[in-house]
Amino acid sequence: MHRSIDSFALSCFLGNSQQADAVISWPDGAAVRVLIERERVVLGYEYRGKSRLEKLPLEWRPRGYGGENAYFMCPCCGGRYRKLYLCGGRFQCRKCSGLNYPTQQAGKLDVARRKVRRELKALAVPPERMEDGSDVDGWIPEKPRGMHYSTYYRHCRKLQQARREWYALIIRAARALLG
Ligand SMILES: [Zn+2]
Repeated sequence: MHRSIDSFALSCFLGNSQQADAVISWPDGAAVRVLIERERVVLGYEYRGKSRLEKLPLEWRPRGYGGENAYFMCPCCGGRYRKLYLCGGRFQCRKCSGLNYPTQQAGKLDVARRKVRRELKALAVPPERMEDGSDVDGWIPEKPRGMHYSTYYRHCRKLQQARREWYALIIRAARALLG
């Protein structure tokens, strides 16, 4: 279910006047109130029980057969688009509203996760123990036999640092998903 707005349709409401308003509703019952001006649109809508007001600039481009069309500028990437989609609590172009951001985050998450595992491995934690949760809590492995204390502490520090980075990324990715 895509909640989208179309700049061509919205600019039609404007006609020759300075300002127009419209209500766009979607089949799921959600609706957006729109105030349309030549240079911008202002959208008022509810997202997760909270009222939101969003200003989006319009860019006018000449049509091949005369006249001109209005386009949105995606607030995320700045690209020019006819359609924006309400996703994660804001209007974005198709690319930005897709899973782009979480996927990028997932890539970073994998890197951070590998760092944690690398330190656990350096501390002689067997792979089967990494899967049982020992890598996600504050658990610090015991010093492996024969390892110097300085090496042990260095890996413990790096392990904690890698975990902090990983947690921070998870929180950020979760927030991005929630909008
Ligand atoms: Zn975009």
